[in-house]
Amino acid sequence: MSAAPRVEVLVLGVGSSGGTPALGCTCPTCTSPDPRNVRTRASAVLRAGGQTFLIDTGPDLRQQSLREQLLRVDAVLYTHPHADHLNGIDDLRAFCWLQKAPLPVFGNRLMFTHIRERFPYTLLQPTAMWDKPVLDFTEVHAEPFEFAGVTVQPIPLLHGKWPILGWRIGNVAYLTDVSDISDESLALLQGLDILLLDCLRERPHPTHLSVAQSLEWAGRVAARQTVLIHMTHELEYHELGRRLPEGVCVGFDGMQLVSGSGE
Ligand SMILES: [Zn+2]
Ligand SMILES: [Zn+2]
Ligand SMILES: [Zn+2]
Repeated sequence: MSAAPRVEVLVLGVGSSGGTPALGCTCPTCTSPDPRNVRTRASAVLRAGGQTFLIDTGPDLRQQSLREQLLRVDAVLYTHPHADHLNGIDDLRAFCWLQKAPLPVFGNRLMFTHIRERFPYTLLQPTAMWDKPVLDFTEVHAEPFEFAGVTVQPIPLLHGKWPILGWRIGNVAYLTDVSDISDESLALLQGLDILLLDCLRERPHPTHLSVAQSLEWAGRVAARQTVLIHMTHELEYHELGRRLPEGVCVGFDGMQLVSGSGE
């Protein structure tokens, strides 16, 4: 069995759709002085084989990129077209401009339909100015594909009734906004080192995992380490962290993790 590739994870944001602090809220999480309670919208960078993969383009992409000095994006892996995962798409023009090249983008058919309807100008030919994002969209399903020598595995998931995608590279998987995982997709999540997993809030939600459901799935997937993401302000970093089992931790903006040893 060949060794898994080294994958570096940079967590850009672990917030839910509204971010934390929530606008107008004065709850303990929203007024916490701890930066780990400040959550921008959910997104992450996976680096493998010299390639930088950006997962989703939420409305905080610009600030996240500045904060983490993100200088290059080689491909975007989209999970689904909700505003908190898509609406920062216009800021991709900076990376197209820097690289003077169209940016390869991967997602499922639902994703492509929404980008075509809501941001059609991102799918046009580049102009000499490179003043708009120029995206080269590839529709994918459940089959793994190669990108510049890196194997990328889409993970079909359900987000309520929506078919969406999680992503796996090497032994790292990123599953946000998920309410159910099929047996076929669970089989694609074997042997994980790091699992980033949706954990919206305490109470059940029709299109997300609650804390109890998230822990249940974490146990079933049994990654070496599970990192909870996409949390609302109802979940305070320390309070939640104290009651998690071994091998599960609360994610935070700027968190960095490494899986595998390379080659
Ligand atoms: Zn979301
Ligand atoms: Zn609050
Ligand atoms: Zn969503």
